[in-house]
Amino acid sequence: MSLGSGLAKGLAVTFRAMTRRAVTQQYPETLPELPPRSRGVIGLFEENCTVCMLCARECPDWCIYIDSHKETVPPAAPGGRERSRNVLDRFAIDFALCMYCGICVEVCPFDALFWSPEFEYAETDIRDLTHERDKLREWMWTVPEPPPPDPSAEEAKETAAARRTADRRAAERSRPAEQAEQAEQAEGDREPGEGSAS
Ligand code: SF4
Ligand code: SF4
Repeated sequence: MSLGSGLAKGLAVTFRAMTRRAVTQQYPETLPELPPRSRGVIGLFEENCTVCMLCARECPDWCIYIDSHKETVPPAAPGGRERSRNVLDRFAIDFALCMYCGICVEVCPFDALFWSPEFEYAETDIRDLTHERDKLREWMWTVPEPPPPDPSAEEAKETAAARRTADRRAAERSRPAEQAEQAEQAEGDREPGEGSAS
């Protein structure tokens, strides 16, 4: 290939690339449009965490650090037994080790871990990639709403059980009011003087 034809081919490639629409984005001026369920970072909803340690045990990288202590809870009713519960002291994830497999989110039996699409947490020092519970909690508020349930799907067992409990409680609450109303009505129906002795 002569120098002239090589140059012409090279310029043709350059010209084609110049007229093609760019697929790159000028981050950080332009933020990427991520799919809603992107695996950016893990958020912790600590109210749901029972310190069962399942996530830390199942994590293949051993990058979840949990500390806790036991606390005695007084009995719920007089004469009952005292109970003990775990109180969370520390919950941290080392994102320098995490491989974003999602096992911790999947195995948590109490819905305390969620994926957030947040991804702007780069650090200049690798040691700063261990994030503690306060930061994990902040990320919790960036977790998107779950998709609405499929209207043609069967009602979840948990939803049905919660609805039955709510209905039963509502019925129990309305019972004393109904009884008082019936007693009032019976009183009103009574003839004047009726019911008095002698
Ligand atoms: S995503 Fe995987 S590697 Fe990262 S903390 Fe969870 S279980 Fe560990
Ligand atoms: S599996 Fe869930 S509930 Fe158990 S320690 Fe981990 S985050 Fe907490």
